[in-house]
Amino acid sequence: MICVSLGRRRHSALKQAHRDLGKLNPDLVELRVDWIMSRLNVARLLKKRPTPVVVTCRREQDKGRWSGTEEQRLAVLREAIIGGAEYVDIEEDVAKSIPRYGDTKRLISYHNFQDTPAELSEIYQRMTECDPDVIKIVTMANRPADNVRVLELLKSATVPTVAFCMGEFGIVSRILCGRMGAPFTYAGYSRAGEMAPGQLLWDDMRDFYRYDRITPDTKVFGVIGDPIAHSLSPLLHNSAFKEVDFDGVYLPLRIPPDTVQETLQEYDKLDISGYSVTIPHKHAALDFAELPDAQAELIGASNTLFKADGKWHATNTDYDAIVETVEAGLTTFPADARGIAGKQVLILGAGGVARAAICAMQQNGAAVTITNRSPDRAKVLGEELGCTVVDWEQRGDHVCDILINCTSVGMHPNVSESPFDLPWLNESMLVFDTVYTPENTQLLEHAKTRGCATASGLEMFVRQAARQFELFAGERPPMDFMMETLRHSLSSATE
Ligand code: NAP
Repeated sequence: MICVSLGRRRHSALKQAHRDLGKLNPDLVELRVDWIMSRLNVARLLKKRPTPVVVTCRREQDKGRWSGTEEQRLAVLREAIIGGAEYVDIEEDVAKSIPRYGDTKRLISYHNFQDTPAELSEIYQRMTECDPDVIKIVTMANRPADNVRVLELLKSATVPTVAFCMGEFGIVSRILCGRMGAPFTYAGYSRAGEMAPGQLLWDDMRDFYRYDRITPDTKVFGVIGDPIAHSLSPLLHNSAFKEVDFDGVYLPLRIPPDTVQETLQEYDKLDISGYSVTIPHKHAALDFAELPDAQAELIGASNTLFKADGKWHATNTDYDAIVETVEAGLTTFPADARGIAGKQVLILGAGGVARAAICAMQQNGAAVTITNRSPDRAKVLGEELGCTVVDWEQRGDHVCDILINCTSVGMHPNVSESPFDLPWLNESMLVFDTVYTPENTQLLEHAKTRGCATASGLEMFVRQAARQFELFAGERPPMDFMMETLRHSLSSATE
């Protein structure tokens, strides 16, 4: 169950918003009466209410907007109880001064906007002594592991308990608290009305993460990285899970650098089944895995961790995605020239994606040359992986069958830039740009103008995600659907 929080400055606006929201049938609505700026009339807000409600009147010390005296605030809570609200939120330190009355349930709450204190169990114990029907504990997560401590509280709860963390690190506990036994979680109705840091919108909680379908049997996955807020992987995987009706949820999990090992160990307590891995954690992910496969070892980095038979496996799905994308691009070549083996490949860049591309092309029999803006980086990589290196300034002179851009040149917002000039391209080449924002980069536009075969970073991105989907869900990925989902999201993001 999701409790949708609602706050407005005027009674009429709050009542109207509640009526509008009521048409969408939420199970429970929190009326934040502390947001009302005029003289508060709780009875008016409760009259003809379209849904069950939690009445909350938050004081300033708990980041609320109540500007009256504490005595007046407690009178508001008593008024809500007399008015028959389904729940009234009562802070634990004032709980004993608000007596139980009628059918109204007492939601005894504790908020901490600074951190997740060490003495959570003591606080919980104290709250059980406040005659609660529901206990609510909400703390600030300053590190991912704080979620685990708060969710663990739910395992031993003796009273129905809602517990989760705030902040960007806290998203995981907001979504998983129901799976651990919380009777409901909270979500916002609109971005403008955000009540607490990290609060998700009801639409996202309901339709994107499918909160109400999450049970202890639901498999949990996520993408780890830092930053993570703009990752497209949650969109792609959650949409694909929904499309094939797979019982899974996929979360954005920000993990700060140098804390990957300890965080993943802590997250094991949440029974997470797999991770996509993005910058800067691909090396740390490989170190964490008990069973890295040959491709991850070869590349020296992992973009996927998955649990099988109780052990963490690492792989790198970029490898297969690059091979498949190149092979698909070569299908326009004459029938006897469609293999990667024997091709001259020029790779632009010497970062993580370049590394995966070099390994993928070499293992399939291509002769690989690399070039990079910073020559030292290219030299080191060339020596390590055994490929020829050419100067960045001379890259246009190098003859190749396949050109792969693994630099970030041309990426949004610098969409008019290209890492390889138009005159250097010719129609016998396949040009593959791993950049996927935008889908049609300047390099690919130039390549089409020159009659080259092309392959896009979007195809690669979907293929690496599709491989992960297969490992995570054990089902065939809905490739076309995933492609369309990503294309649609990218086009609306850059409009
Ligand atoms: P990375 O490790 O940071 O490497 C970035 C590379 O880009 C380096 O070689 C860097 O050269 C080069 N570069 C950056 N700015 C440049 C400039 N102005 N001129 C010339 N070279 C420049 O990043 P990565 O993880 O390899 O990712 C590279 C790109 O691949 C990303 O930007 C992204 O668009 C794309 N990508 C695609 C997928 C996919 O699935 N399609 C997945 C991940 C990434 P220096 O060494 O000189 O700095």
